Amino acid sequence: MKKGHVYLIGAGPGDPGLITVRGRECISFADVVVYDYLANEQLLESAPSRAELIYAGKIGGAHNHEQWQINSLLVDKALEGKIVARLKGGDPFIFGRGGEECEALAAAGISFEIVPGVTAGIGAAAYAGIPLTHRNVTTSVAFVTGHEHQEKDDTEIDWERLSLGSGTIVFYMGIKNLPQITRSLIDHGRSPDTPVALVRWGTRPEQQILEGTLANIAEKARKALFKAPAITIVGEVVSLREKLRWFDIRPLFGKGILVTRAADQAGEFSRLLSEKGASVFECPTISLVPPESSAELDRAILELSSFDWLVFTSANAVGFFFSRIETVGLDARALAGCRVCAVGPKTAASLLPYGIRPDLIPADYKAEGVVAEFGRMEMKGKRVLFPKADKARDLIPKALGEMGAEVTAPVAYRNVIPDRVPERAMLALEEQRIHCITFTSSSTVENLAAILGENRMIRLLEGVVVAAIGPVTANTCRELGLKVDIEPKEYTLEKMTDAISDFFNLP
Ligand code: SAH
Repeated sequence: MKKGHVYLIGAGPGDPGLITVRGRECISFADVVVYDYLANEQLLESAPSRAELIYAGKIGGAHNHEQWQINSLLVDKALEGKIVARLKGGDPFIFGRGGEECEALAAAGISFEIVPGVTAGIGAAAYAGIPLTHRNVTTSVAFVTGHEHQEKDDTEIDWERLSLGSGTIVFYMGIKNLPQITRSLIDHGRSPDTPVALVRWGTRPEQQILEGTLANIAEKARKALFKAPAITIVGEVVSLREKLRWFDIRPLFGKGILVTRAADQAGEFSRLLSEKGASVFECPTISLVPPESSAELDRAILELSSFDWLVFTSANAVGFFFSRIETVGLDARALAGCRVCAVGPKTAASLLPYGIRPDLIPADYKAEGVVAEFGRMEMKGKRVLFPKADKARDLIPKALGEMGAEVTAPVAYRNVIPDRVPERAMLALEEQRIHCITFTSSSTVENLAAILGENRMIRLLEGVVVAAIGPVTANTCRELGLKVDIEPKEYTLEKMTDAISDFFNLP
């Protein structure tokens, strides 16, 4: 039987953007993903839907797994012929027991690839604004496990050399042993005034930092109940953070914001909010699905050569249209005989990947613009195909019909209200990690109420700041029992982002 293959992948320190391109690619074709506590679960979204996802923290229902169990799980899955993505926090070879897993694979004759990752020491330091080395401050850095200490008889850390020999020292897993670690460094000659920073959940929206010196950090951490997972950075470079911090001073840092726009429109808004440091949860209240029956569209596609014009008024229409072209077994050549009109530059751009450059892009990017352009042509007897959304206005078919054209307007896709809130967003709402909810049209409010039920929506949004893009949306919010806290003066996503950021940064 064919043997599988194992990819040992560094997931990076937490921010899902910090996995490597190769790492994400390997997840995308895995049959099985075995992941750790420290690997961000959002990365699992890159796995194929058929993939088996196994949390290595709980093998066989037991809460604590042994390393040998994980090793044999990897071996067994690969022997079944599976492609296994083993996803580990940070880098697999930095205190990640990746070496042991590879040894087990090698012993079983299973082929593997190692995809390095941004280790927590590097990632958390960067997001804390602490350069681990600096020309004027230090020339060396050491990564050390804080898990063992000198009270153990068989300590392997040479404290004397470490204390004086390395400029910056980064301890992993050192929070519990902080009193012993700092004591050892001071006893072996490091100045008690050396700056120290603890970085917990580095690179994540929950990032927490505690600063002090070798002399006082252990006591400070005890008082603040500072917990793992955190790295401890010791060295003069820590004092550069004051000038260089960037991540945790962004105006929306630490704020959970729910975006209710349709999935295909949420991206830009989410990006604006993330740039200001928010942790964004997308909860689309509209989703686009194929029509109940595609028969009419398919029939038109099969007779495409008899049409003079093909009109698209959105990138969505283009996407759904071409997916039918593919399903019926054709390709872009089916469009050879007809001219193509795209309502605006976005729709036009969405045609390019299919090899189609539109013949006509009206100057006015609306249905009215399309009608005006066709009004200047002889349309009598011309056959026009207009694949549309189920709720589209009938302006185009009507006006072109009046010009004497024969218009066929099959439904290419429908707007429907999803039946649930995505799990990640729901969990954040229930755990009160959402600080602000944003509504960018009345239908986003109405649909959310339809998905959750009005009472449940009101209960879940208790204490959550409500932002509405304009007066109409704000009114709908109030009608549905929500109090509106933020309303930008101009009704754009940029102004809405600014208004939210101002709201949370009032003096
Ligand atoms: N292979 C991992 C380290 C695993 S050991 C890597 O390369 O990063 C686990 C320790 O890593 C934790 O106890 C903590 O010290 C550190 N760690 C992992 N992720 C972290 C994060 N996001 N912020 C701070 N420390 C982190």
